[in-house]
Amino acid sequence: MISQETVDRVKSRMNAIRIIGEYVKLERRGRSHIGLCPFHKEKTPSFHVSDERNFYHCFGCSVSGDPIRFLMEHEGLSFVEAIRHIAEREGIDVVETGDDRDRLQAAEQRRRLEEMYDAGAVAATFYERMLSEHPLAELARDELRKRGLEPDQQSGDGIDAMRAFRVGYAPYGWDNLARQLRDQGAGAQPAERVGLLVPRKTGPGHYDRFRHRLMFAVLDLRGRVVAFSGRALPEPTEELLARAGLSPLGTGNSDAPAKYLNSPESPIYRKREVLFGLYQARHSVRERDQCILVEGNFDVVSLHARGITNVVAPLGTAFTAEQGKEIRRYTNQAVMLFDGDSAGRRATESARAPAREVGLVVRVASLPDGVDPDDLARQGGADAVRRVVGASQSMLEYLIESTLDEKVSGALDKAERIKRVKALMEEEEDPTVRAMAKSYADTVAERLGIADPATLRALEASVGVDRRFPSGPSQRDGRAAFHSGSAPVAEERRGGINSYDPLSEQPRGRAAPQPPERAKSRNQAHEIEQEIFGAFLDFPSLLGDAVSWEAANLLEGDLALGYVALRQVWESVGQVQSATENPANARTSLAPESILGALPQSLSSYASQRLAAPKHDQLDPCRGELVANLRRLEKLQAVREAAHVVDELHQAQAQGDFEQELSLLSERFRRARERRR
Ligand SMILES: [Zn+2]
Repeated sequence: MISQETVDRVKSRMNAIRIIGEYVKLERRGRSHIGLCPFHKEKTPSFHVSDERNFYHCFGCSVSGDPIRFLMEHEGLSFVEAIRHIAEREGIDVVETGDDRDRLQAAEQRRRLEEMYDAGAVAATFYERMLSEHPLAELARDELRKRGLEPDQQSGDGIDAMRAFRVGYAPYGWDNLARQLRDQGAGAQPAERVGLLVPRKTGPGHYDRFRHRLMFAVLDLRGRVVAFSGRALPEPTEELLARAGLSPLGTGNSDAPAKYLNSPESPIYRKREVLFGLYQARHSVRERDQCILVEGNFDVVSLHARGITNVVAPLGTAFTAEQGKEIRRYTNQAVMLFDGDSAGRRATESARAPAREVGLVVRVASLPDGVDPDDLARQGGADAVRRVVGASQSMLEYLIESTLDEKVSGALDKAERIKRVKALMEEEEDPTVRAMAKSYADTVAERLGIADPATLRALEASVGVDRRFPSGPSQRDGRAAFHSGSAPVAEERRGGINSYDPLSEQPRGRAAPQPPERAKSRNQAHEIEQEIFGAFLDFPSLLGDAVSWEAANLLEGDLALGYVALRQVWESVGQVQSATENPANARTSLAPESILGALPQSLSSYASQRLAAPKHDQLDPCRGELVANLRRLEKLQAVREAAHVVDELHQAQAQGDFEQELSLLSERFRRARERRR
């Protein structure tokens, strides 16, 4: 663990422009810097970084945070790693917590992990070199060429993909890597722990786990080699061996080697948590807001080489929730592009639960039987792949379709099939998807050749679809987009929301409809209030100004709460600081994280924008505008209040409620007196 003291020192010394500037080209504009957002694709910059606040915000995709958050989100570092990263650059000594023994243990642990990463790095470099130097590597290069990858080309996407995935050749022989590690002064222990070397059963020493294989390095989200996947190659002929000056290995067993051999799990590699290619794909996944899942690592590399770069694959495991979480760092949309065979179908089915667990929306792109994504890309190019991905179905549609696609034989089978479709629909939790799926009932009947309406009704009833539109959180979490283009219900609903104009149309049956004029003035007032609140974000020192109290009286709703929260943060900082340094100084800038943590949720997006890109550069014009806005707001509110009391008076009169009428009148006089004073 890192001491709080170190964390504090890093936070006080870190500089957003220096740290983020390593990844984004930033230009000064006013009080902040702007650049092209690294989290989404854009042509005009909307990514703002404030160095005085150490805070970034993108107006395009709404990401925001401090430099630590940036490193975590953009580079995949953990919090502790981000702190270490900054400390290293700023020359800050990292102090560990705990007693001496704990610290030593932690340091020892880190050293051991470092050695394992080093072993992986040495091996990856060695394999890469062997791919061009080893006399038998042409068998590996042949394999690559078969996939349309040209390892000898000097330029082009292919060679870039080869480098990005650190494609290499594990040489023919028992101890090539073992000797290489020894030559570089690396111990065998770390290499053994990550499964690169295996201890000899007879006598001391180690032998290589990967021999005569085409190698793909597995990288973590920081680009470190954590494991390998090695593909078997054809055995060299005796002639080839003789030419290379090598003798046959004599494995002692005649079984053909496994087609793929993967590194075992180790302290730096947990296969449930790692997706092959995510490091290379992450920016593209974020930009396209979509992650394509394929089955094999070779597919990942060859699709990357053809320009489809948002592709990943699980390695040596079915798709897991942990992997889903990794994808969710960049997008919540996944498309499974699995082989059209029954294994591919099973893999697709088994991905449903883990994806749902982490809120990943999965669509399924079906490949023709016997065609893998690589075949498709080779025959039709990137466009063919994009077309198939574009024509993907929702997971539920896909599962129902494939249940119906199997050949039906007899009435029992039909009943069984209906049961399975029912079960699929019932499992679906999203009401929008269920409503959509209900329209499938007709198809189901038709496909199974059910002409009897009673059977069909029974099927429909058992599905129990609620036709009412869903409400609540599922509207916001992206699931509504599940069926864009194919689901009339979802479309209709979205259209409804878009065409709903809060100024002219109030939902009936709830509050009494407001005249449009008044709703408009309310909207105008809200904008002014937001500007008033924004001025305090631009210059917190205004909170100590007399105008601050006027704002406190005039702001309403969440903005009033926000004002109070901001004031509390400002005061608490002031109290801490006044005991130590010059309080006036400290109060000019408050930590964005403490402000955002205190504000009502509804204000966080606005506040975050304003913190990263303050509207005002100078205090005086900012104060001037603030005062003008306070006057405008006061006027608007007076008008609205009067109108409101008059409304209520009319109502009281109509109902003959004399008591109520009196109290409203006196309230009105009280307010009028107050204003005159
Ligand atoms: Zn962005």
